[in-house]
Amino acid sequence: MIIAVDGPSGSGKSSTARGVATRLGLRYLDTGATYRAVTWSAVERGLDLDDTAAVAQRARDLELEVSTDPGRQFVVADGTDITAAIREPGISEVVSKIATNLDVRHELIRRQRAIIDDAQETGGIVVEGRDIATVVATDAELKVLLTADQDARMARRGAEVSSLTADQLRDQIVRRDADDSTVSEFQVASDGAVTIDSTDLTLEEVIDVISRLAKE
Ligand code: C5P
Repeated sequence: MIIAVDGPSGSGKSSTARGVATRLGLRYLDTGATYRAVTWSAVERGLDLDDTAAVAQRARDLELEVSTDPGRQFVVADGTDITAAIREPGISEVVSKIATNLDVRHELIRRQRAIIDDAQETGGIVVEGRDIATVVATDAELKVLLTADQDARMARRGAEVSSLTADQLRDQIVRRDADDSTVSEFQVASDGAVTIDSTDLTLEEVIDVISRLAKE
């Protein structure tokens, strides 16, 4: 069983996907964490982020472990625990530049598919990202596109990132949407995807809806 959950930042997809995985006893993969990890590594090594070949090589060389336990998330890159570091605003600021590097995407999608294949042996996985239903796992049994209006997304991101002002947050969300939309088609529901607008729903309600659909 593969459940794909796509959506823009602040749509609540991480908490939702983790909650569904916990409820249904499935693994969980946050694909955004893989893009953030490569970004962290490139920044840490002082690479020129516009040097697409060097950044792609870093993606291929990076030793990366991303937890698929929904109750215990961690990311380790080249032996360093970067679970907290990849959420820093400095990483969110530049991650789209790394995610628009097609060679980086190629490498990370390969790794994501390997993790998904492994999880099939333990019952399945909820995979969360931008291009899961359209590219990474087109054979997913359930495809969900999670949306929310901009104010709701800002409020949710604001609760996570207290170091930014409201204007900085809005700028970041609007700019990241624009940057991300140049590579992934996450704003367009893939064939067979169910669109859920979470603006007026609680987290538990969204988890309920998806869990019910998964059992149908
Ligand atoms: O989901 P999250 O906000 O952590 O993702 C960080 C960034 O990684 C996104 O803004 C996007 O640029 C990139 N990403 C992607 N494809 C995915 C998941 C994330 O391009 N499947």
